[in-house]
This record gives sequence, structure tokens and C-alpha cells, in this order.
Amino acid sequence: MKKRIAIFGSTGSIGTQALDVIANNADKFEVEILTAYSNETLLIEQAKKFNPNAVVIVNENKYNAVKDALASTHTKVFAGEKALEEVACFDTYDMMLAAIVGFAGLKSTLKAIETGKAIALANKETLVVAGDIVMQKAVEKRVPVIPVDSEHSAIFQCLVGETRNKIEKVVLTASGGPFLGKKPNFLVNVKKEHALQHPNWNMGAKISVDSATLMNKGLEMIEAKWLFNLQPAQIQVIIHPQSVIHSMVQFEDGSIKAQMGLPDMKLPIQYALAFPQRIPSSFPRYDFTRSSSLHFEQPDIKTFRNLALAGEALHRGGNTACVMNAANEIAVYGFLRNRIGFLDMTELVERAMHKIHFIENPTLEEYFESDAEARNFAASLINL
Ligand code: NAD
Ligand code: MG
Repeated sequence: MKKRIAIFGSTGSIGTQALDVIANNADKFEVEILTAYSNETLLIEQAKKFNPNAVVIVNENKYNAVKDALASTHTKVFAGEKALEEVACFDTYDMMLAAIVGFAGLKSTLKAIETGKAIALANKETLVVAGDIVMQKAVEKRVPVIPVDSEHSAIFQCLVGETRNKIEKVVLTASGGPFLGKKPNFLVNVKKEHALQHPNWNMGAKISVDSATLMNKGLEMIEAKWLFNLQPAQIQVIIHPQSVIHSMVQFEDGSIKAQMGLPDMKLPIQYALAFPQRIPSSFPRYDFTRSSSLHFEQPDIKTFRNLALAGEALHRGGNTACVMNAANEIAVYGFLRNRIGFLDMTELVERAMHKIHFIENPTLEEYFESDAEARNFAASLINL
């Protein structure tokens, strides 16, 4: 039996790499659903190649183009935001790869969990915003949530076979991004073209900027808290510029397990899709005879203050991380459109975190309200 996969966000960096993995393992996986925001050309091409049962194009202006192009196929075409939630409830697939970027991925992922689908989770913002509700629902529905984010995949892999053993701490590795070692007097003039050049990974625009500001690592601390049920003190971030050790787990006896490999997102994607099996791959191997040394250093949280803000959100709990995430999405949007500078992003996030009122145990509706409030506040500050 082939595993039937729904890829939400199939036209993105994770989505396209997942389709490569599936194409190379056509005996194990089949594509059931594909969704895209507005890249109809790529969505049509993917649908023709993989023959899904359904596709969603969120931008309704593109509906006719997709519908016409796929008229001679059996693929059903849907459009609009609501359609994402509707197709997430279809019972024709086994696993959702949640690869939409940002808060926009939350609702459809929740629907997939509610209807009992396994989740391969790339969309970290889902857990940053409403990790308590998402993980509780997953437990209730006995749905596995397999991380795709490389650090969390590493931790997940280190924990296989360790169910009874307590975690002392996890160590999230961070490449440091393109501006490792830089100070504010340099960062103040940084432009988006420079911020989008990540040294080790080729990713979507939002996560590339998040990596440059270290917000990505901040989001990942919160993601780790929910995935592995950790206290803030159990989560450490260390800079490791080579991105060969993808993260580590230290157990109560002091033993540390690390997961290693060349930086290639196809590996954690394939691991999540195939779990609990490991399947062969031809991805390039790490060569110990040719590689230089592995290096570690402390993050500079005075310069990259997003990491401190995320630490604050991690400790405070409630709706703080949701607010931080929403303001950050607006900040990144503003930066990518040259509306604000690199350092202004952190400023905006900090102001929103201190402005939006704190809710200790938010309901899902309150998370949505906090998200909207923080977005509106941040957007008003930069006249978006
Ligand atoms: P991307 O920008 O390349 O792709 C995003 C996908 O989501 C596209 O298919 C796009 O059409 C869709 N999308 C965008 N906005 C949408 C909206 N409002 N509604 C519905 N669909 C929408 O992003 P990416 O780099 O592939 O990242 C996807 C997710 O995976 C993010 O949460 C990111 O943090 C996470 N992630 C990515 C990487 C990576 O290497 N790219 C690594 C780890 C985690
Ligand atoms: Mg990561």
C-alpha cells in the first residue's frame, strides 16, 4: 500500500523538495492533494506530473486558469482560503505535509489533525502560535506529529528508542545565518538581497529573513517546547556555522546524542514521510576525510535581540509567542518590500509584544484575535 500524501504549500521550497522525494520513491508514496497560494503555473505543472485527486489554488483569481488547464484530467480544482480547510478533511489521504509558510498554515493543519491524519510538520509557526492546542488535539486524536524542521527532526531521531528516558536538555544548533559575527552598525544598512543569501540552506523568503535575524531559531525554541514537552531551561541554542550537527539531546546520565549529515532538507522531509521506516537515498554523504573541523560558539543575543524576545515569549507563555509571530510576519513583509530596515524588524516585534494584552490560557479564538491585533498594530506602525 502506498502512503497517500497531501502537500499543503506544494509550490514552496519544502513542497517542491518533497515532490522530488516522492518522485524518487514512486513505489512508496502517491500524491493526493496539492495546494498553492498563487503560483498557478507551477501548481498546474505539478498536478499534471503527479495526478492528485484535488488541488487548491488559494488566490481565487487564478481558479479559471487552473481549472481550464486541468480540465482533461481527473483532478478536482478548488479555490480560496476556506477550501484549504475543506480538502484537509478529505478522507482520501494518510499524511499531510504542512508546508505552508506562516500563521496561514494553522487552520488546515488543525483540520487534518481533527480528522485523524498523520502530520509531517514543516510549518513551525503552527506550534509557535497555538502549540498547546495543536499538540493536545494530536494526543486526543492519536495523531503523530513528525517534525520536518531539520533541528527538530534531529531531536526526534535522537529520541527514537528513548521513550522511557528523561531528556535533560536539547541543544538546537543554529548556523548563525548570513550575518554571523556582524554588529548593529553593519546590520542597520543590510538590504533584503543580502539577507536572502543564506550560507548553508536555500529556503523560502520568510524563513531566510528569519534566519538572518535569528528569529528562526527563536521560533524553533518554541516549536521544540511543544513537540518534546520541554521546560524553557531545557532548551539551549548554540551557533554551529557548518550545519552538520542538526541538533542534539542530552540525557540524564550526561550522554549526548547528535544527528548529523550534510545540510539538505530532503533528508528530514523523506524521514518524516517514510517514518517509522528509513528508506534509501542518493543524497550526497558527509565525508569525514575531506571536511574541516566543526565549530561551536555562543549566540550574540545583544546584537540578535530576536533570540532574547523569543526567550521571553518562551518563559511567559500564553499568547505572547502568538503575538511575537504575528508582528514578525508583518515585520518581515515590510522588510521584504523595503518599507523598514533590518533592525526595525526586532523593534516592531518588541513593541507589539509589549502592547498587546496578555492572555494566560487563550482559546483558539483568542489566539486568532491576538494574531489579528498584533498584525494590525505592527502594520499601523509602518503604514502598511
Ligand atoms: P515558501 O515561501 O518557499 O513556500 C510557502 C508555500 O506556502 C508556497 O507553496 C505558497 O504557495 C504557500 N503559501 C504562502 N502563503 C500562503 C497563504 N497565505 N495561504 C496558503 N498558502 C500559502 O516557504 P518554505 O521555505 O517552503 O517554508 C514553508 C514552511 O516550512 C515555513 O513554515 C518554514 O518555516 C518551514 N521550514 C522551511 C525550511 C526550508 O528549508 N525552506 C526549513 C525548515 C522549516
Ligand atoms: Mg530549522
